Amino acid sequence: MTHHYTVLHGGTVLTFDGALPSDAASRAGGDPRVPDAAGRRATAICFADDRILAVGTDEEILALAGPDSHVVDLRGRAVLPGFVEPHAHPYWEGVVAGMALLAGRERRAAIRAVPGAAEHLEPETWLVARYDPTGWDRPDDPTRDDLDRAVPDRPVLLAHVSGHAVTANSLALALAGLDRRSDDQPGRMAIERDDGGEPTGILRGPDAWDRIAAALPPPTAADGHAALTRAAARLAADGVTSVADADLGSTHGVAVELAAWGEAIASGAMSLAVALMPGLARIAPGVGDTVPSPAEIAAMLPEAARNRVRLDHLKLKADGALTTHTAWLRASYADAPHAGGPVHDPAVLAERVRGAVSAGWAVATHAIGDAAIAAVLDACAAALPPPRPHRLEHAMLLDEDLLVRLAASGIAAVVQPEFLAWAGATYRARLGEERAARLLPFAAFLRAGIPMPFSSDRPVVRGAPLDGVRAALQHDPGLSIAEAFHAWTAAGAAVLGDDDAGRLEVGRRSDLVILSRDPMVVPRAAWARRDDGITVVATIARGRLVAGRLEGLA
Ligand SMILES: [Zn+2]
Repeated sequence: MTHHYTVLHGGTVLTFDGALPSDAASRAGGDPRVPDAAGRRATAICFADDRILAVGTDEEILALAGPDSHVVDLRGRAVLPGFVEPHAHPYWEGVVAGMALLAGRERRAAIRAVPGAAEHLEPETWLVARYDPTGWDRPDDPTRDDLDRAVPDRPVLLAHVSGHAVTANSLALALAGLDRRSDDQPGRMAIERDDGGEPTGILRGPDAWDRIAAALPPPTAADGHAALTRAAARLAADGVTSVADADLGSTHGVAVELAAWGEAIASGAMSLAVALMPGLARIAPGVGDTVPSPAEIAAMLPEAARNRVRLDHLKLKADGALTTHTAWLRASYADAPHAGGPVHDPAVLAERVRGAVSAGWAVATHAIGDAAIAAVLDACAAALPPPRPHRLEHAMLLDEDLLVRLAASGIAAVVQPEFLAWAGATYRARLGEERAARLLPFAAFLRAGIPMPFSSDRPVVRGAPLDGVRAALQHDPGLSIAEAFHAWTAAGAAVLGDDDAGRLEVGRRSDLVILSRDPMVVPRAAWARRDDGITVVATIARGRLVAGRLEGLA
């Protein structure tokens, strides 16, 4: 097998090699030789197959080209490490890609659109769709009555875009065996009821989806293949070359989804680097249940996929979402007479973390409210040291004290800047101005030395990393452009423990994204205004073009 060299020259190569996680040191020192958060600059790069062979000047790199090399003039475009997406739901994204999303500004109009979403379905089959009430004039979840009026003749299940609530019509509730006698599961699933005790159709909590979706027809292997093929294409189009599924099993269960991932990777349908984070509550539902080890989960994958998948973190949930009033706060919501609550009692959370660590996992714990973040820090501190650093997912509402504790813990904050652009107004309504202003202090995370990769939680939001950069720069005037891109590259690779990704250095994996021009020379204000004009031109994973096009590149 011959390995043809590919040479990209005549552009800007941002290596992120030797990059500092934060620009603070280079700014403070004033020494121009200290690399900023984007690392050393070059103008050309050479790779063969899945490895980077050289990074340097045009002269140096063009000298490597032979008669059978692909030589591509970048014409001023920029090459960066492929974006790393350490918290997404690709399987779910692929499943929902074909579903309607009921959004917009008017609640009534969104509900009026429900019958249209059912138009192309076979009679009596389920309508499954998503709804996003964050922009509605009246942001109340649709009820069974709303849905019965809209679609009386087939079961309807709508998932809140956050994944933390669902709503269903009467037929769907009946098929799921859910009625006034059904019990809540404290912390995991709450059935909203009217004054007479009848379910309103709305269920909240991490198990809300599972409770109704269990009645759906079982997925086929072809469904899983189609979902992951769609997800791979969407991620690659946004410049992503590494992705983590941050709750394996949340749509169709761990066994079904693991089989789909294995098949998609082995067949080449999933060309990106993959990390899978099984939901702890799914692989060991009871607190005392034995937690399968990473090796035991890996053994469920086909041989050909096994060494392509990282299995390091289990997903836990400490609370819910601000949008659904289920995040756990220290003080009451500004627009509801309660403070949310924990998914697990703190002692149980600590026991769950201990169980995960003794089975060989680190944990990635969803915590949005300040009370939930404090409980996670306590639980992690009470367990033995993990094999890899733990992760805190979302980490949205902190005060100075929590920031100091988080920094001391060595736990990474895996944050989602696009949430702020999506639901900023809802957050202000939920928290009031003072607390909303404290959400996601990106520059403060970096100054405190907290590892801070960006991610999107897609498909909760659209999820393109460039949109995440825009939202982050708009939100936090203390954050630099280089820091924002570091958070989407080197920082993400570090939190996944993938030394092969996130930097353009000799010997690392040839995972690259080509942008229309150097993102560092665009004024910061243009990024924050969203008129930077930067686009993803092409994405290369393991040396293969997986999205976009570039003249001269096959
Ligand atoms: Zn998530």
